Amino acid sequence: MRRPAPVALADWADANFYMSAESSYAEGPWRTLPFQRVPLNLMGNEQVEEFDFIKSARVGYSKMIMASVAYQVEHKKRNQIIYQPTDAAASSFMKEHVQPMIRDVPAVRGLASWFGKKHPNNTLDSKTFDNRRKLWVMGGTSAKNYREKSVDTVYMDELDGFDEDVEGEGRPDHLAGKRNEGSYFKKLICGSTPTEDHKSLIGSRSASAECLLRCHIPCPHCSHPQHLVFDHMRMLEPGNPHSTEYACESCGAFFSYQQSQEAQVDCFYRDPKTGITTQDGLTFTDIDGEPVETPRHVALHVWSAYSPMTDWAKIMRDFLARKKDPSQLKTWVNQTRGETWKEKGDAPEWERLYERTRGTALQPNKLEDWVALVTMGVDVQRSPGRLELEIVGWGPGRRTQSIDYRVFSGDTSDLGPSGPWEQLRQIIRSETWEHSSGVHLPVACTAVDSGDQTQTVYTFCREFQQPQVIPIKGEPNLTTIVGIPKPVDVSQAGRKLRRGVMLWGVGINLLKTELYSWLKLQRPTDESGEDLPAGWCEFPEYGEDYFKGLCSEQMARKKNRAGYTVWAWEKIYERNEPLDCRVYARAAAAVKGVDRWTDRDWLEIRQSLGIVRRQEKTETEARNGVTFKKSTFWD
Ligand SMILES: [Zn+2]
Repeated sequence: MRRPAPVALADWADANFYMSAESSYAEGPWRTLPFQRVPLNLMGNEQVEEFDFIKSARVGYSKMIMASVAYQVEHKKRNQIIYQPTDAAASSFMKEHVQPMIRDVPAVRGLASWFGKKHPNNTLDSKTFDNRRKLWVMGGTSAKNYREKSVDTVYMDELDGFDEDVEGEGRPDHLAGKRNEGSYFKKLICGSTPTEDHKSLIGSRSASAECLLRCHIPCPHCSHPQHLVFDHMRMLEPGNPHSTEYACESCGAFFSYQQSQEAQVDCFYRDPKTGITTQDGLTFTDIDGEPVETPRHVALHVWSAYSPMTDWAKIMRDFLARKKDPSQLKTWVNQTRGETWKEKGDAPEWERLYERTRGTALQPNKLEDWVALVTMGVDVQRSPGRLELEIVGWGPGRRTQSIDYRVFSGDTSDLGPSGPWEQLRQIIRSETWEHSSGVHLPVACTAVDSGDQTQTVYTFCREFQQPQVIPIKGEPNLTTIVGIPKPVDVSQAGRKLRRGVMLWGVGINLLKTELYSWLKLQRPTDESGEDLPAGWCEFPEYGEDYFKGLCSEQMARKKNRAGYTVWAWEKIYERNEPLDCRVYARAAAAVKGVDRWTDRDWLEIRQSLGIVRRQEKTETEARNGVTFKKSTFWD
């Protein structure tokens, strides 16, 4: 007997698959849309062992999964399991998608002699077909559902809806991936509308893929192939979503949704980074058209802009309706664009901060009226030897003023009168800043990084009463701003002083995230009459290098030692000392207790310093310490 020639999934679906009334926008025989050909064939391609499908709503994803299930039962004769995020989702998927598919796709119905009958091969969570191939549909919340079943093809449906950790046993995709380890034709298909960037499972998986394919269509004017991005959609008449067209990234000419649908006939998928290209999901080339090996792990992104089930007017209308509300915008970005929502960790733009501070009335070393606490952060650099430091003023709502940024050059192992530490000593011992009330404020707490010149830092800190000058150590995984201080030994003049000083761990990742959210705050307009937001940061007219340094890091995906993708901070600008100094000064403020202080505590501190008028007290207290007006604190 001759084996039938292998048929690709998209071709099989066009010949055999049927869209059931229960789960389709239009009932009838399946026609693969141009943009669906590659993802469908990737689901069926035996050489692709892992396929991550990042998608928006309305790209026909559920139908494509069902087409793949039908193809793999009938044509490929595979055992399969579909995981849904919950048990309830699993049982409704069986009812709404699997059973109608069996009923309506003759090639599969012919293998289900038990259909519509009570039969051991026909249960609520599994079907055994007449060719002895099995299909399970299970919920993914319980670890036991990932045990024992051995299959060829595993589907994870809406992966970002799964628990990140299944009952303490690990990531759901890792547990599910074990189900086909024994198979010669093992395949793991994960599909999801993504969620928040830093915790998106599909995002983290696709970062480990060999390529991330995007659908390219040729420009109707200049033929330049490109993948569609929302930023290139424009309303030609302002405010009218129906006038939305697309600006070609090459010639700049606009084309319409209708034109894009016609151009899609000639689409192909390409990873813009690696150049890996495929027209059919079966064969792959490099960017010059030279054949390359089929990648074993493929990720693909496609979103509603390509879909005939929606149009650009609707995409733009939804965007306009939601753009003002971050939570609604997040849903829109996930559902319509099929992209993760980036909330935290992105570096603010240094240019914007630089521009914002041009022409400011704020002078270095001149205190703003609302400042009631001064702290300092010190970074120790060996080569070239220097101390860099920032002096920061703090007020209600943890608003800050950068009082000064200084660099003391010299040998950082030299604590003597000619070294850089002597200049730091002078600031801590004798420098003060005059408040408009005439009161002088000294630095209340100084945090010194002990990562370099550790013993010198300990010895220096020990000169002062604790915790006036404290050694700190950045701990990336610490989930509090400062940890519990630990005693450390100090070597001094050849003697070892047991428990000479307390070392403070500092949650630097947490603090960078916090600082960057503060730096991205918008100044309220004069007309709004609103107060400056909590966390607002004021700077004098520092130079470009300062702001580049302050915004020098971003969150990026990295592989950890175990090979998993994790989020970590990475430098995008070499000189990051301004960022470190600010974070250390923030830790010093935390040691002083600012995170516990209410507006009323701030008021009491100001009163105790003698920098507040009597009437201010009444007015602020009357507001229960929640808000305060410019006429009191800010004038
Ligand atoms: Zn063009």
